[in-house]
Amino acid sequence: IGYTPADDRYDTMTYNRAGRSGLKLPAVSLGFWHNFGDLTPFDHMKKLVFTAFDHGITHFDLANNYGPEPGQAEKNCGLLINKYFKAHRDELIISTKAGYEMWTGPYGDGGSRKYLISSLDQSLERLGLDYVDIFYHHRPDPETPLEETMGALAQIVASGKALYVGLSNYDGPTMEKAAAILDELHVPFVINQNKYNILDRRIEKNGLKDTAKRLGKGLITFCPLAQGLLTNRYLNGIPADSRIALDPRFLNDSALTPERLQQIRELNDIAIARGQTLAEMSLAWLLHDGVVTSVLAGASKPQQIIDNIGALKNTTFSAEELAKIDEISQR
Ligand code: NDP
Repeated sequence: IGYTPADDRYDTMTYNRAGRSGLKLPAVSLGFWHNFGDLTPFDHMKKLVFTAFDHGITHFDLANNYGPEPGQAEKNCGLLINKYFKAHRDELIISTKAGYEMWTGPYGDGGSRKYLISSLDQSLERLGLDYVDIFYHHRPDPETPLEETMGALAQIVASGKALYVGLSNYDGPTMEKAAAILDELHVPFVINQNKYNILDRRIEKNGLKDTAKRLGKGLITFCPLAQGLLTNRYLNGIPADSRIALDPRFLNDSALTPERLQQIRELNDIAIARGQTLAEMSLAWLLHDGVVTSVLAGASKPQQIIDNIGALKNTTFSAEELAKIDEISQR
Protein backbone atom coordinates (compact mmCIF):
# COMPACT_ATOMS: atom_id res chain seq x y z
CA ILE A 1 0.00 0.00 0.00
CA GLY A 2 1.44 3.34 -1.04
CA TYR A 3 1.47 6.72 0.64
CA THR A 4 -0.20 9.86 -0.62
CA PRO A 5 1.09 12.93 1.24
CA ALA A 6 -1.40 15.52 2.45
CA ASP A 7 -2.20 18.13 -0.20
CA ASP A 8 -1.96 20.96 2.32
CA ARG A 9 1.47 19.92 3.62
CA TYR A 10 3.14 23.23 2.75
CA ASP A 11 0.40 25.49 4.08
CA THR A 12 1.47 26.08 7.67
CA MET A 13 5.18 25.30 8.00
CA THR A 14 7.70 28.15 8.08
CA TYR A 15 10.79 27.71 5.88
CA ASN A 16 13.96 29.55 6.85
CA ARG A 17 17.00 30.16 4.69
CA ALA A 18 20.19 28.49 5.99
CA GLY A 19 22.22 31.64 6.60
CA ARG A 20 22.76 33.56 3.35
CA SER A 21 22.51 30.40 1.22
CA GLY A 22 19.72 29.51 -1.17
CA LEU A 23 18.70 26.46 0.87
CA LYS A 24 15.51 26.69 2.91
CA LEU A 25 14.80 24.33 5.79
CA PRO A 26 11.61 23.81 7.75
CA ALA A 27 11.72 25.63 11.10
CA VAL A 28 11.17 22.21 12.71
CA SER A 29 13.14 19.24 11.32
CA LEU A 30 13.05 15.54 12.25
CA GLY A 31 16.05 13.71 13.71
CA PHE A 32 16.70 9.99 13.27
CA TRP A 33 19.11 9.49 16.20
CA HIS A 34 16.48 7.64 18.24
CA ASN A 35 13.34 5.71 17.22
CA PHE A 36 14.67 4.62 13.81
CA GLY A 37 16.91 1.71 14.82
CA ASP A 38 16.37 -1.89 15.86
CA LEU A 39 14.24 -0.97 18.89
CA THR A 40 11.34 0.47 16.89
CA PRO A 41 8.81 -1.42 14.70
CA PHE A 42 8.97 -0.35 11.03
CA ASP A 43 5.26 0.46 11.05
CA HIS A 44 5.85 3.00 13.79
CA MET A 45 8.69 4.68 11.87
CA LYS A 46 6.32 4.95 8.93
CA LYS A 47 3.81 6.83 11.06
CA LEU A 48 6.49 9.22 12.28
CA VAL A 49 7.78 10.15 8.82
CA PHE A 50 4.31 10.35 7.24
CA THR A 51 3.18 12.69 10.03
CA ALA A 52 6.28 14.82 9.60
CA PHE A 53 6.04 15.11 5.81
CA ASP A 54 2.28 15.66 5.89
CA HIS A 55 2.96 18.74 8.06
CA GLY A 56 5.72 20.25 5.95
CA ILE A 57 8.79 18.73 7.64
CA THR A 58 10.94 18.26 4.56
CA HIS A 59 14.21 17.65 6.38
CA PHE A 60 15.29 14.30 7.86
CA ASP A 61 18.63 14.27 9.67
CA LEU A 62 20.81 11.16 9.94
CA ALA A 63 24.37 10.08 10.64
CA ASN A 64 26.37 7.00 9.72
CA ASN A 65 26.26 5.74 13.32
CA TYR A 66 22.59 6.24 14.23
CA GLY A 67 20.95 3.01 15.34
CA PRO A 68 21.06 0.79 17.25
CA GLU A 69 22.92 -0.98 15.57
CA PRO A 70 25.03 1.75 13.95
CA GLY A 71 23.85 2.17 10.36
CA GLN A 72 20.32 0.92 11.02
CA ALA A 73 18.71 4.38 10.96
CA GLU A 74 20.12 4.97 7.46
CA LYS A 75 18.95 1.52 6.34
CA ASN A 76 15.46 2.15 7.67
CA CYS A 77 15.36 5.64 6.16
CA GLY A 78 16.43 4.10 2.85
CA LEU A 79 13.60 1.57 3.03
CA LEU A 80 11.11 4.33 3.80
CA ILE A 81 12.34 6.60 1.01
CA ASN A 82 12.45 3.89 -1.60
CA LYS A 83 9.07 2.49 -0.65
CA TYR A 84 7.08 5.66 -0.05
CA PHE A 85 8.98 8.79 -1.10
CA LYS A 86 10.37 7.86 -4.54
CA ALA A 87 8.09 10.39 -6.19
CA HIS A 88 9.01 13.00 -3.57
CA ARG A 89 12.82 12.81 -3.42
CA ASP A 90 13.09 16.35 -4.74
CA GLU A 91 10.90 17.58 -1.89
CA LEU A 92 13.25 16.14 0.74
CA ILE A 93 16.48 17.30 2.34
CA ILE A 94 18.34 14.23 3.60
CA SER A 95 21.48 14.81 5.64
CA THR A 96 24.07 12.44 7.02
CA LYS A 97 27.43 12.72 8.78
CA ALA A 98 30.73 11.08 9.59
CA GLY A 99 33.06 11.93 12.44
CA TYR A 100 32.38 9.55 15.32
CA GLU A 101 33.59 5.95 15.39
CA MET A 102 31.77 3.87 12.77
CA TRP A 103 34.04 0.89 12.14
CA THR A 104 37.09 -0.62 13.81
CA GLY A 105 40.64 0.20 12.80
CA PRO A 106 42.31 3.52 12.01
CA TYR A 107 40.01 4.56 9.12
CA GLY A 108 36.55 4.43 10.71
CA ASP A 109 36.71 7.53 12.95
CA GLY A 110 37.91 11.15 12.95
CA GLY A 111 38.33 13.55 10.06
CA SER A 112 40.63 11.97 7.48
CA ARG A 113 39.89 12.09 3.77
CA LYS A 114 39.98 8.27 3.86
CA TYR A 115 37.24 8.06 6.51
CA LEU A 116 34.88 10.75 5.21
CA ILE A 117 34.81 9.61 1.62
CA SER A 118 34.43 5.90 2.33
CA SER A 119 31.88 6.53 5.08
CA LEU A 120 29.66 8.57 2.77
CA ASP A 121 29.86 5.81 0.16
CA GLN A 122 28.65 3.34 2.81
CA SER A 123 25.88 5.74 3.89
CA LEU A 124 24.63 6.14 0.31
CA GLU A 125 24.54 2.37 -0.02
CA ARG A 126 22.47 2.00 3.17
CA LEU A 127 20.19 4.88 2.17
CA GLY A 128 19.77 3.56 -1.37
CA LEU A 129 20.45 7.09 -2.67
CA ASP A 130 22.84 8.57 -5.25
CA TYR A 131 23.46 11.69 -3.19
CA VAL A 132 22.58 13.31 0.13
CA ASP A 133 21.51 16.92 0.34
CA ILE A 134 23.80 17.86 3.22
CA PHE A 135 26.92 16.00 4.35
CA TYR A 136 28.43 16.97 7.70
CA HIS A 137 31.72 16.48 9.39
CA HIS A 138 30.19 15.28 12.67
CA ARG A 139 32.80 16.68 15.10
CA PRO A 140 36.14 18.44 14.86
CA ASP A 141 39.22 16.21 14.77
CA PRO A 142 42.24 18.05 16.21
CA GLU A 143 44.60 15.34 14.91
CA THR A 144 43.74 15.88 11.25
CA PRO A 145 44.66 19.14 9.46
CA LEU A 146 41.53 21.18 8.76
CA GLU A 147 42.74 21.47 5.13
CA GLU A 148 42.46 17.68 4.75
CA THR A 149 38.97 17.41 6.21
CA MET A 150 37.69 20.40 4.25
CA GLY A 151 39.39 19.07 1.12
CA ALA A 152 37.47 15.82 1.55
CA LEU A 153 34.20 17.78 1.82
CA ALA A 154 35.14 19.68 -1.36
CA GLN A 155 35.77 16.44 -3.21
CA ILE A 156 32.48 14.98 -1.97
CA VAL A 157 30.55 17.94 -3.39
CA ALA A 158 32.55 17.89 -6.64
CA SER A 159 31.76 14.19 -7.05
CA GLY A 160 28.04 14.91 -6.75
CA LYS A 161 27.58 12.79 -3.63
CA ALA A 162 26.41 15.77 -1.56
CA LEU A 163 24.83 19.06 -2.64
CA TYR A 164 25.84 21.08 0.44
CA VAL A 165 28.15 20.55 3.39
CA GLY A 166 27.83 21.29 7.09
CA LEU A 167 29.96 21.23 10.21
CA SER A 168 28.76 19.82 13.51
CA ASN A 169 30.00 20.42 17.05
CA TYR A 170 32.64 22.97 15.94
CA ASP A 171 33.32 26.05 18.11
CA GLY A 172 33.32 29.58 16.67
CA PRO A 173 37.05 30.04 15.95
CA THR A 174 37.51 26.55 14.45
CA MET A 175 34.40 26.95 12.31
CA GLU A 176 35.65 30.31 11.04
CA LYS A 177 38.99 28.78 9.98
CA ALA A 178 37.18 25.90 8.29
CA ALA A 179 34.79 28.31 6.56
CA ALA A 180 37.73 30.27 5.10
CA ILE A 181 39.19 27.08 3.61
CA LEU A 182 35.81 26.01 2.24
CA ASP A 183 35.27 29.47 0.71
CA GLU A 184 38.62 29.26 -1.02
CA LEU A 185 37.62 25.87 -2.43
CA HIS A 186 34.17 27.24 -3.46
CA VAL A 187 32.38 24.62 -1.36
CA PRO A 188 28.75 25.37 -0.42
CA PHE A 189 29.16 25.25 3.37
CA VAL A 190 25.71 26.35 4.48
CA ILE A 191 24.99 25.11 7.99
CA ASN A 192 26.27 24.32 11.45
CA GLN A 193 24.67 21.63 13.57
CA ASN A 194 25.17 22.14 17.30
CA LYS A 195 23.51 21.32 20.59
CA TYR A 196 21.47 24.26 21.86
CA ASN A 197 18.57 24.52 24.23
CA ILE A 198 17.38 26.61 27.18
CA LEU A 199 19.53 24.54 29.53
CA ASP A 200 22.64 24.22 27.32
CA ARG A 201 24.19 27.55 26.27
CA ARG A 202 27.60 26.35 25.16
CA ILE A 203 27.35 27.86 21.66
CA GLU A 204 26.56 31.26 23.18
CA LYS A 205 29.91 31.02 25.01
CA ASN A 206 32.22 29.34 22.48
CA GLY A 207 31.58 31.83 19.69
CA LEU A 208 29.70 29.45 17.40
CA LYS A 209 26.36 31.28 17.45
CA ASP A 210 27.85 34.75 16.91
CA THR A 211 30.23 33.51 14.22
CA ALA A 212 27.48 31.69 12.33
CA LYS A 213 25.41 34.87 12.33
CA ARG A 214 28.33 37.09 11.26
CA LEU A 215 29.44 34.76 8.45
CA GLY A 216 25.88 34.19 7.20
CA LYS A 217 25.91 30.47 7.91
CA GLY A 218 22.84 28.53 8.99
CA LEU A 219 22.41 26.94 12.39
CA ILE A 220 20.34 23.83 13.11
CA THR A 221 20.11 22.97 16.78
CA PHE A 222 20.12 19.42 18.09
CA CYS A 223 18.57 18.18 21.36
CA PRO A 224 16.39 21.33 21.40
CA LEU A 225 14.24 19.65 24.06
CA ALA A 226 17.28 18.36 26.01
CA GLN A 227 16.26 14.84 24.92
CA GLY A 228 12.82 15.31 26.48
CA LEU A 229 13.76 17.06 29.73
CA LEU A 230 12.36 20.35 28.38
CA THR A 231 8.86 18.92 28.00
CA ASN A 232 6.18 17.87 30.43
CA ARG A 233 7.43 14.26 30.24
CA TYR A 234 9.32 14.04 33.54
CA LEU A 235 7.31 16.49 35.68
CA ASN A 236 5.77 13.64 37.66
CA GLY A 237 8.24 10.78 37.53
CA ILE A 238 9.61 8.63 34.71
CA PRO A 239 6.87 7.41 32.32
CA ALA A 240 7.26 3.80 31.13
CA ASP A 241 7.25 4.90 27.46
CA SER A 242 9.91 7.62 27.86
CA ARG A 243 13.50 7.73 26.57
CA ILE A 244 14.89 7.38 30.11
CA ALA A 245 12.82 4.22 30.67
CA LEU A 246 13.19 2.62 27.23
CA ASP A 247 16.53 3.72 25.77
CA PRO A 248 18.84 5.14 28.43
CA ARG A 249 21.99 4.97 26.26
CA PHE A 250 22.40 8.76 26.26
CA LEU A 251 19.84 9.96 28.84
CA ASN A 252 19.25 8.26 32.17
CA ASP A 253 17.69 9.05 35.52
CA SER A 254 20.89 10.68 36.77
CA ALA A 255 19.82 13.70 34.66
CA LEU A 256 16.76 14.19 36.88
CA THR A 257 18.40 15.84 39.87
CA PRO A 258 16.16 17.77 42.29
CA GLU A 259 17.75 21.03 41.04
CA ARG A 260 17.03 20.11 37.41
CA LEU A 261 13.43 19.16 38.19
CA GLN A 262 12.95 22.44 40.00
CA GLN A 263 14.21 24.35 36.92
CA ILE A 264 11.93 22.34 34.64
CA ARG A 265 8.91 23.03 36.85
CA GLU A 266 9.61 26.77 36.92
CA LEU A 267 10.13 26.87 33.15
CA ASN A 268 6.88 24.94 32.77
CA ASP A 269 5.09 27.68 34.76
CA ILE A 270 6.36 30.32 32.31
CA ALA A 271 5.19 28.20 29.38
CA ILE A 272 1.74 27.84 30.90
CA ALA A 273 1.53 31.61 31.45
CA ARG A 274 2.35 32.05 27.73
CA GLY A 275 -0.35 29.56 26.76
CA GLN A 276 2.23 27.06 25.49
CA THR A 277 3.43 23.64 26.55
CA LEU A 278 7.00 23.50 27.82
CA ALA A 279 8.02 21.70 24.60
CA GLU A 280 6.48 24.48 22.50
CA MET A 281 8.09 27.24 24.54
CA SER A 282 11.49 25.53 24.44
CA LEU A 283 11.44 25.31 20.64
CA ALA A 284 9.98 28.80 20.24
CA TRP A 285 12.73 30.20 22.47
CA LEU A 286 15.37 28.79 20.10
CA LEU A 287 13.74 30.52 17.14
CA HIS A 288 12.99 33.87 18.75
CA ASP A 289 16.08 35.86 17.68
CA GLY A 290 16.25 34.71 14.07
CA VAL A 291 19.73 33.12 14.17
CA VAL A 292 18.54 29.50 14.30
CA THR A 293 17.43 28.15 10.93
CA SER A 294 15.72 25.03 12.23
CA VAL A 295 15.21 23.16 15.48
CA LEU A 296 16.13 19.51 15.03
CA ALA A 297 13.77 17.65 17.30
CA GLY A 298 13.33 13.95 17.85
CA ALA A 299 10.00 12.23 18.43
CA SER A 300 8.86 8.87 19.72
CA LYS A 301 5.21 9.51 18.79
CA PRO A 302 3.49 11.18 15.83
CA GLN A 303 1.54 13.48 18.15
CA GLN A 304 4.81 14.92 19.52
CA ILE A 305 5.73 16.05 16.00
CA ILE A 306 2.42 17.86 15.64
CA ASP A 307 2.78 19.41 19.10
CA ASN A 308 6.29 20.60 18.30
CA ILE A 309 5.19 22.36 15.13
CA GLY A 310 2.69 24.18 17.38
CA ALA A 311 5.71 26.11 18.72
CA LEU A 312 5.68 28.21 15.53
CA LYS A 313 2.41 29.87 16.54
CA ASN A 314 4.26 32.11 19.01
CA THR A 315 8.02 32.66 18.87
CA THR A 316 7.94 36.16 20.41
CA PHE A 317 9.17 36.68 23.97
CA SER A 318 9.04 39.73 26.22
CA ALA A 319 12.27 40.96 27.78
CA GLU A 320 10.89 39.90 31.17
CA GLU A 321 10.20 36.37 29.95
CA LEU A 322 13.70 36.06 28.46
CA ALA A 323 15.31 37.34 31.65
CA LYS A 324 13.29 34.94 33.78
CA ILE A 325 14.18 31.98 31.53
CA ASP A 326 17.86 32.95 31.79
CA GLU A 327 17.67 33.32 35.55
CA ILE A 328 16.07 29.89 36.04
CA SER A 329 18.14 27.97 33.54
CA GLN A 330 21.56 29.44 34.31
CA ARG A 331 21.46 28.85 38.08
P1 NDP B 1 15.10 16.40 21.46
O1 NDP B 1 15.78 17.24 22.47
O2 NDP B 1 14.11 17.01 20.55
O3 NDP B 1 14.43 15.16 22.23
C1 NDP B 1 13.50 14.36 21.57
C2 NDP B 1 12.72 13.52 22.58
O4 NDP B 1 11.94 14.35 23.43
C3 NDP B 1 11.72 12.62 21.89
O5 NDP B 1 12.29 11.44 21.43
C4 NDP B 1 10.69 12.42 22.97
O6 NDP B 1 11.21 11.52 23.93
C5 NDP B 1 10.65 13.79 23.63
N1 NDP B 1 9.67 14.69 22.99
C6 NDP B 1 9.72 15.24 21.76
N2 NDP B 1 8.66 16.04 21.54
C7 NDP B 1 7.93 15.99 22.65
C8 NDP B 1 6.70 16.61 23.03
N3 NDP B 1 6.05 17.44 22.20
N4 NDP B 1 6.21 16.35 24.27
C9 NDP B 1 6.87 15.52 25.11
N5 NDP B 1 8.02 14.90 24.80
C10 NDP B 1 8.54 15.14 23.59
O7 NDP B 1 16.14 15.82 20.48
P2 NDP B 1 17.00 14.47 20.32
O8 NDP B 1 17.84 14.26 21.51
O9 NDP B 1 16.11 13.38 19.88
O10 NDP B 1 17.93 14.89 19.11
C11 NDP B 1 17.32 15.35 17.91
C12 NDP B 1 18.16 15.11 16.72
O11 NDP B 1 19.37 15.87 16.78
C13 NDP B 1 18.67 13.68 16.57
O12 NDP B 1 17.68 12.80 16.09
C14 NDP B 1 19.80 13.88 15.60
O13 NDP B 1 19.28 14.00 14.29
C15 NDP B 1 20.38 15.21 16.06
N6 NDP B 1 21.57 15.04 16.92
C16 NDP B 1 22.78 15.42 16.43
C17 NDP B 1 23.93 15.28 17.16
C18 NDP B 1 25.22 15.75 16.60
O14 NDP B 1 26.28 15.50 17.18
N7 NDP B 1 25.23 16.41 15.46
C19 NDP B 1 23.92 14.68 18.52
C20 NDP B 1 22.59 14.35 18.97
C21 NDP B 1 21.46 14.53 18.19
P3 NDP B 1 10.39 10.25 24.52
O15 NDP B 1 11.09 9.09 23.94
O16 NDP B 1 10.59 10.37 25.99
O17 NDP B 1 8.97 10.38 24.07
